[in-house]
Amino acid sequence: MSVDASPRPNALPQDPIKVLYILGVGRSGSTLLDTLLNELEGFFSMGELRALWADTLPNDRRCGCGVAVSRCPVWVDVLDGAVTNWRSPATVRRLRHAQRAVVRQRHLPLLLRSNHGDGPQTHALQAIASAQAAILRGVARVTDAQVIVDSSKIPADAALLATLPGIDLYVLHLVRDPRAVAYSWSRPKPRGDGPDPTESLPRYSSATSTRKWVEFNLCAHLIARKVGPSHYLRVRYEDLLRDPPSSLQRIVTFVGASGVNPPVAGSTRTVSLGTNHTVSGNPARFQRGVIELREDTRWRVAQPLRDALTVSLLSAPLMFAYGYDLAPPIQRTKIRSRGRS
Ligand SMILES: [Zn+2]
Repeated sequence: MSVDASPRPNALPQDPIKVLYILGVGRSGSTLLDTLLNELEGFFSMGELRALWADTLPNDRRCGCGVAVSRCPVWVDVLDGAVTNWRSPATVRRLRHAQRAVVRQRHLPLLLRSNHGDGPQTHALQAIASAQAAILRGVARVTDAQVIVDSSKIPADAALLATLPGIDLYVLHLVRDPRAVAYSWSRPKPRGDGPDPTESLPRYSSATSTRKWVEFNLCAHLIARKVGPSHYLRVRYEDLLRDPPSSLQRIVTFVGASGVNPPVAGSTRTVSLGTNHTVSGNPARFQRGVIELREDTRWRVAQPLRDALTVSLLSAPLMFAYGYDLAPPIQRTKIRSRGRS
Protein backbone atom coordinates (compact mmCIF):
# COMPACT_ATOMS: atom_id res chain seq x y z
CA MET A 1 0.00 0.00 0.00
CA SER A 2 1.11 3.58 -0.56
CA VAL A 3 1.70 5.57 2.61
CA ASP A 4 1.08 9.17 3.56
CA ALA A 5 3.90 9.85 6.03
CA SER A 6 2.39 13.03 7.49
CA PRO A 7 1.83 12.89 11.28
CA ARG A 8 -1.51 11.48 12.44
CA PRO A 9 -1.69 12.38 16.10
CA ASN A 10 -5.30 11.26 16.41
CA ALA A 11 -4.88 7.94 14.62
CA LEU A 12 -4.91 5.02 17.03
CA PRO A 13 -3.68 1.56 16.05
CA GLN A 14 -6.28 -1.15 15.86
CA ASP A 15 -6.18 -3.56 18.74
CA PRO A 16 -5.01 -6.23 18.35
CA ILE A 17 -2.66 -5.53 15.45
CA LYS A 18 -2.69 -8.15 12.70
CA VAL A 19 0.82 -9.22 11.73
CA LEU A 20 1.35 -11.63 8.83
CA TYR A 21 4.74 -13.26 9.41
CA ILE A 22 6.42 -15.01 6.45
CA LEU A 23 8.34 -17.96 7.89
CA GLY A 24 10.77 -20.15 5.96
CA VAL A 25 14.30 -20.35 4.69
CA GLY A 26 15.95 -17.59 2.63
CA ARG A 27 15.68 -17.74 -1.19
CA SER A 28 12.16 -19.17 -1.01
CA GLY A 29 10.62 -16.23 -2.86
CA SER A 30 9.67 -14.30 0.27
CA THR A 31 10.73 -10.91 -1.12
CA LEU A 32 8.53 -11.38 -4.19
CA LEU A 33 5.62 -12.42 -1.99
CA ASP A 34 6.32 -9.49 0.34
CA THR A 35 6.20 -6.96 -2.50
CA LEU A 36 3.04 -8.56 -3.94
CA LEU A 37 1.30 -8.37 -0.56
CA ASN A 38 2.32 -4.71 -0.28
CA GLU A 39 0.14 -4.04 -3.34
CA LEU A 40 -2.98 -5.26 -1.51
CA GLU A 41 -5.23 -2.55 -0.12
CA GLY A 42 -4.69 -2.28 3.64
CA PHE A 43 -1.46 -4.33 3.66
CA PHE A 44 1.93 -2.82 4.58
CA SER A 45 5.13 -4.83 4.05
CA MET A 46 7.99 -4.01 6.40
CA GLY A 47 10.45 -6.41 4.77
CA GLU A 48 12.71 -8.28 7.19
CA LEU A 49 12.17 -6.30 10.38
CA ARG A 50 14.58 -8.54 12.32
CA ALA A 51 17.45 -6.90 10.37
CA LEU A 52 16.64 -3.37 11.57
CA TRP A 53 18.97 -3.32 14.60
CA ALA A 54 21.41 -5.98 13.44
CA ASP A 55 22.15 -4.70 9.96
CA THR A 56 19.92 -2.00 8.44
CA LEU A 57 20.62 0.89 10.83
CA PRO A 58 24.28 0.05 11.66
CA ASN A 59 25.12 -0.19 7.93
CA ASP A 60 22.84 2.67 6.80
CA ARG A 61 21.00 0.44 4.34
CA ARG A 62 18.33 1.67 1.97
CA CYS A 63 14.61 1.35 2.43
CA GLY A 64 12.58 -0.17 -0.41
CA CYS A 65 11.58 3.40 -1.34
CA GLY A 66 15.21 4.15 -2.27
CA VAL A 67 16.46 6.42 0.54
CA ALA A 68 18.26 5.23 3.67
CA VAL A 69 15.87 3.83 6.28
CA SER A 70 17.25 6.43 8.71
CA ARG A 71 15.91 9.13 6.34
CA CYS A 72 12.75 7.43 5.03
CA PRO A 73 9.83 9.61 6.21
CA VAL A 74 7.69 6.57 7.05
CA TRP A 75 10.33 4.86 9.20
CA VAL A 76 11.48 8.11 10.82
CA ASP A 77 7.86 8.71 11.87
CA VAL A 78 7.50 5.12 13.14
CA LEU A 79 10.81 5.05 15.03
CA ASP A 80 10.50 8.56 16.48
CA GLY A 81 7.27 7.46 18.16
CA ALA A 82 8.45 3.96 19.12
CA VAL A 83 12.04 3.92 20.39
CA THR A 84 13.71 6.68 22.41
CA ASN A 85 17.05 7.81 20.92
CA TRP A 86 16.78 5.25 18.10
CA ARG A 87 19.44 7.10 16.08
CA SER A 88 21.99 6.78 18.88
CA PRO A 89 24.65 4.11 18.15
CA ALA A 90 24.38 3.08 21.81
CA THR A 91 20.63 2.36 21.43
CA VAL A 92 21.18 0.43 18.20
CA ARG A 93 24.00 -1.56 19.84
CA ARG A 94 21.91 -2.29 22.96
CA LEU A 95 18.96 -3.62 20.96
CA ARG A 96 21.23 -5.56 18.58
CA HIS A 97 22.88 -7.29 21.55
CA ALA A 98 19.50 -7.97 23.19
CA GLN A 99 18.19 -9.48 19.95
CA ARG A 100 21.29 -11.64 19.49
CA ALA A 101 21.02 -12.87 23.07
CA VAL A 102 17.36 -13.87 22.81
CA VAL A 103 16.30 -14.48 19.22
CA ARG A 104 18.30 -17.65 18.68
CA GLN A 105 17.28 -21.10 17.58
CA ARG A 106 18.55 -22.62 20.81
CA HIS A 107 16.17 -20.38 22.77
CA LEU A 108 13.16 -21.47 20.71
CA PRO A 109 11.81 -23.77 23.48
CA LEU A 110 11.94 -20.86 25.96
CA LEU A 111 10.22 -18.50 23.52
CA LEU A 112 7.56 -21.11 22.74
CA ARG A 113 6.81 -21.44 26.47
CA SER A 114 6.26 -17.67 26.79
CA ASN A 115 2.70 -16.50 26.39
CA HIS A 116 1.99 -12.79 26.00
CA GLY A 117 4.64 -11.80 28.49
CA ASP A 118 3.90 -14.35 31.22
CA GLY A 119 6.77 -16.73 30.38
CA PRO A 120 10.37 -16.67 31.54
CA GLN A 121 11.63 -13.07 31.35
CA THR A 122 15.13 -11.70 31.04
CA HIS A 123 16.31 -8.13 30.67
CA ALA A 124 17.32 -8.79 27.04
CA LEU A 125 13.97 -10.43 26.23
CA GLN A 126 12.04 -7.53 27.72
CA ALA A 127 14.18 -4.98 25.84
CA ILE A 128 13.81 -6.48 22.38
CA ALA A 129 10.18 -7.55 22.91
CA SER A 130 9.09 -4.07 23.98
CA ALA A 131 11.00 -2.44 21.09
CA GLN A 132 9.44 -4.78 18.50
CA ALA A 133 5.95 -4.29 19.96
CA ALA A 134 6.38 -0.50 19.94
CA ILE A 135 7.54 -0.57 16.31
CA LEU A 136 4.52 -2.66 15.25
CA ARG A 137 2.20 -0.24 17.06
CA GLY A 138 4.06 2.62 15.34
CA VAL A 139 3.64 1.05 11.89
CA ALA A 140 -0.09 0.56 12.55
CA ARG A 141 -0.37 4.20 13.66
CA VAL A 142 1.58 5.69 10.74
CA THR A 143 0.25 3.51 7.91
CA ASP A 144 -3.31 2.69 9.08
CA ALA A 145 -2.65 -0.80 7.67
CA GLN A 146 -5.11 -3.53 8.59
CA VAL A 147 -2.38 -6.15 8.03
CA ILE A 148 1.36 -5.61 8.64
CA VAL A 149 3.66 -8.04 6.82
CA ASP A 150 7.01 -9.11 8.29
CA SER A 151 9.12 -11.28 5.96
CA SER A 152 11.89 -11.98 8.50
CA LYS A 153 11.40 -15.77 8.15
CA ILE A 154 13.22 -16.77 11.38
CA PRO A 155 11.43 -19.31 13.67
CA ALA A 156 12.79 -17.82 16.93
CA ASP A 157 11.75 -14.35 15.73
CA ALA A 158 8.23 -15.58 14.92
CA ALA A 159 8.07 -17.17 18.37
CA LEU A 160 9.05 -13.83 19.94
CA LEU A 161 6.26 -12.01 18.06
CA ALA A 162 3.82 -14.71 19.18
CA THR A 163 4.57 -13.72 22.79
CA LEU A 164 3.81 -10.02 22.33
CA PRO A 165 0.58 -8.72 23.85
CA GLY A 166 -1.68 -6.84 21.45
CA ILE A 167 -0.33 -8.69 18.39
CA ASP A 168 -2.55 -11.08 16.43
CA LEU A 169 0.10 -13.18 14.69
CA TYR A 170 -0.68 -15.04 11.47
CA VAL A 171 2.13 -17.34 10.30
CA LEU A 172 2.56 -17.89 6.56
CA HIS A 173 4.94 -20.82 6.13
CA LEU A 174 6.53 -20.38 2.70
CA VAL A 175 8.14 -23.50 1.24
CA ARG A 176 10.21 -23.90 -1.92
CA ASP A 177 11.85 -26.96 -3.46
CA PRO A 178 15.15 -27.24 -1.49
CA ARG A 179 17.09 -27.93 -4.71
CA ALA A 180 16.01 -24.54 -6.08
CA VAL A 181 16.89 -22.95 -2.72
CA ALA A 182 20.33 -24.59 -2.72
CA TYR A 183 20.99 -23.48 -6.29
CA SER A 184 20.06 -19.90 -5.44
CA TRP A 185 22.39 -19.86 -2.39
CA SER A 186 25.23 -21.18 -4.58
CA ARG A 187 24.98 -18.24 -6.98
CA PRO A 188 26.63 -14.82 -6.54
CA LYS A 189 24.13 -12.07 -5.82
CA PRO A 190 24.81 -8.36 -5.19
CA ARG A 191 23.19 -6.80 -2.08
CA GLY A 192 22.39 -3.49 -3.72
CA ASP A 193 21.18 -1.69 -0.58
CA GLY A 194 24.32 -0.42 1.15
CA PRO A 195 27.02 2.20 0.61
CA ASP A 196 29.35 -0.40 -0.98
CA PRO A 197 28.07 -1.25 -4.52
CA THR A 198 30.37 -4.31 -4.71
CA GLU A 199 28.93 -5.95 -1.57
CA SER A 200 27.38 -9.37 -2.18
CA LEU A 201 25.00 -11.62 -0.28
CA PRO A 202 26.61 -14.67 1.38
CA ARG A 203 26.82 -17.98 -0.49
CA TYR A 204 26.32 -21.44 1.03
CA SER A 205 27.05 -24.98 -0.05
CA SER A 206 24.11 -27.25 -0.93
CA ALA A 207 24.60 -29.22 2.29
CA THR A 208 24.60 -26.08 4.47
CA SER A 209 21.56 -24.50 2.83
CA THR A 210 19.63 -27.79 3.00
CA ARG A 211 20.41 -28.34 6.69
CA LYS A 212 18.99 -24.86 7.27
CA TRP A 213 15.97 -25.68 5.06
CA VAL A 214 15.22 -28.80 7.13
CA GLU A 215 15.77 -27.03 10.46
CA PHE A 216 13.61 -23.99 9.64
CA ASN A 217 10.79 -26.06 8.18
CA LEU A 218 10.71 -28.41 11.17
CA CYS A 219 10.67 -25.38 13.48
CA ALA A 220 7.82 -23.89 11.43
CA HIS A 221 5.66 -26.82 12.52
CA LEU A 222 6.47 -26.02 16.18
CA ILE A 223 5.39 -22.42 15.57
CA ALA A 224 2.22 -23.75 13.92
CA ARG A 225 1.38 -25.65 17.11
CA LYS A 226 1.87 -22.48 19.16
CA VAL A 227 -0.33 -20.19 17.04
CA GLY A 228 -2.95 -22.86 16.25
CA PRO A 229 -4.44 -24.05 12.93
CA SER A 230 -6.51 -20.89 12.36
CA HIS A 231 -3.32 -18.78 12.37
CA TYR A 232 -1.06 -21.00 10.27
CA LEU A 233 -0.99 -21.36 6.49
CA ARG A 234 1.54 -23.22 4.35
CA VAL A 235 2.11 -21.95 0.79
CA ARG A 236 4.50 -23.42 -1.77
CA TYR A 237 6.46 -20.93 -3.89
CA GLU A 238 5.76 -23.07 -6.94
CA ASP A 239 1.98 -22.88 -6.35
CA LEU A 240 2.16 -19.13 -5.77
CA LEU A 241 3.83 -18.62 -9.16
CA ARG A 242 1.60 -21.18 -10.91
CA ASP A 243 -1.58 -19.36 -9.92
CA PRO A 244 -0.85 -15.99 -8.26
CA PRO A 245 -4.48 -14.78 -8.00
CA SER A 246 -5.68 -17.94 -6.18
CA SER A 247 -2.70 -18.02 -3.83
CA LEU A 248 -3.04 -14.34 -2.92
CA GLN A 249 -6.79 -14.73 -2.41
CA ARG A 250 -6.06 -17.67 -0.11
CA ILE A 251 -3.74 -15.46 1.96
CA VAL A 252 -6.26 -12.61 2.07
CA THR A 253 -8.93 -15.02 3.33
CA PHE A 254 -6.47 -16.54 5.83
CA VAL A 255 -5.82 -13.19 7.56
CA GLY A 256 -9.49 -12.23 7.42
CA ALA A 257 -8.89 -9.08 5.39
CA SER A 258 -12.15 -7.76 4.04
CA GLY A 259 -12.83 -6.17 0.65
CA VAL A 260 -9.32 -6.83 -0.67
CA ASN A 261 -8.71 -7.84 -4.27
CA PRO A 262 -5.39 -9.39 -5.41
CA PRO A 263 -3.29 -7.13 -7.69
CA VAL A 264 -3.41 -9.86 -10.36
CA ALA A 265 -6.57 -11.50 -11.67
CA GLY A 266 -7.60 -14.39 -13.90
CA SER A 267 -4.80 -15.77 -16.06
CA THR A 268 -2.79 -12.54 -15.92
CA ARG A 269 0.94 -13.11 -15.37
CA THR A 270 1.90 -9.48 -14.85
CA VAL A 271 1.62 -7.15 -11.90
CA SER A 272 2.53 -3.51 -11.42
CA LEU A 273 4.68 -2.88 -8.35
CA GLY A 274 4.63 0.51 -6.65
CA THR A 275 6.82 1.91 -3.89
CA ASN A 276 7.39 -0.14 -0.77
CA HIS A 277 9.08 0.61 2.56
CA THR A 278 10.90 -2.65 3.27
CA VAL A 279 13.81 -2.27 5.70
CA SER A 280 15.71 -5.32 4.44
CA GLY A 281 15.45 -8.22 2.01
CA ASN A 282 16.45 -9.49 -1.38
CA PRO A 283 17.41 -6.81 -4.00
CA ALA A 284 14.15 -7.70 -5.80
CA ARG A 285 12.43 -5.36 -3.32
CA PHE A 286 13.69 -2.41 -5.41
CA GLN A 287 11.80 -3.57 -8.53
CA ARG A 288 9.22 -1.10 -9.81
CA GLY A 289 6.60 -1.07 -12.55
CA VAL A 290 5.20 -3.99 -14.47
CA ILE A 291 6.88 -7.35 -13.83
CA GLU A 292 6.08 -10.81 -15.10
CA LEU A 293 5.33 -13.46 -12.49
CA ARG A 294 7.17 -16.59 -13.52
CA GLU A 295 8.74 -19.41 -11.54
CA ASP A 296 12.55 -19.36 -11.61
CA THR A 297 13.41 -22.85 -12.87
CA ARG A 298 17.06 -22.32 -13.89
CA TRP A 299 18.17 -24.83 -11.25
CA ARG A 300 16.46 -27.65 -13.17
CA VAL A 301 19.03 -27.49 -15.96
CA ALA A 302 22.00 -25.75 -14.29
CA GLN A 303 22.32 -27.50 -10.92
CA PRO A 304 25.01 -30.22 -10.82
CA LEU A 305 23.47 -33.66 -10.34
CA ARG A 306 25.69 -34.26 -7.29
CA ASP A 307 24.23 -31.17 -5.58
CA ALA A 308 20.65 -32.18 -6.42
CA LEU A 309 21.24 -35.65 -4.98
CA THR A 310 22.87 -34.22 -1.81
CA VAL A 311 19.86 -31.97 -1.25
CA SER A 312 17.33 -34.77 -1.84
CA LEU A 313 19.22 -37.12 0.48
CA LEU A 314 19.26 -34.60 3.34
CA SER A 315 15.67 -33.45 2.97
CA ALA A 316 13.78 -36.44 1.52
CA PRO A 317 11.09 -36.87 4.25
CA LEU A 318 10.08 -33.19 4.21
CA MET A 319 10.31 -32.96 0.41
CA PHE A 320 7.90 -35.89 0.24
CA ALA A 321 5.61 -34.34 2.85
CA TYR A 322 5.45 -31.09 0.87
CA GLY A 323 4.73 -32.91 -2.40
CA TYR A 324 8.05 -32.49 -4.21
CA ASP A 325 9.28 -35.12 -6.67
CA LEU A 326 12.55 -36.51 -5.30
CA ALA A 327 13.94 -37.65 -8.66
CA PRO A 328 16.53 -35.19 -10.03
CA PRO A 329 15.14 -33.27 -13.05
CA ILE A 330 18.06 -34.27 -15.29
CA GLN A 331 17.58 -37.92 -14.38
CA ARG A 332 13.86 -37.63 -15.11
CA THR A 333 14.65 -36.22 -18.55
CA LYS A 334 16.93 -39.16 -19.33
CA ILE A 335 14.32 -41.66 -18.17
CA ARG A 336 11.66 -39.99 -20.35
CA SER A 337 14.03 -39.97 -23.32
CA ARG A 338 14.80 -43.65 -22.86
CA GLY A 339 11.09 -44.42 -22.59
CA ARG A 340 10.38 -42.70 -25.90
CA SER A 341 13.19 -44.45 -27.82
ZN1 LIG B 1 10.90 4.08 2.83
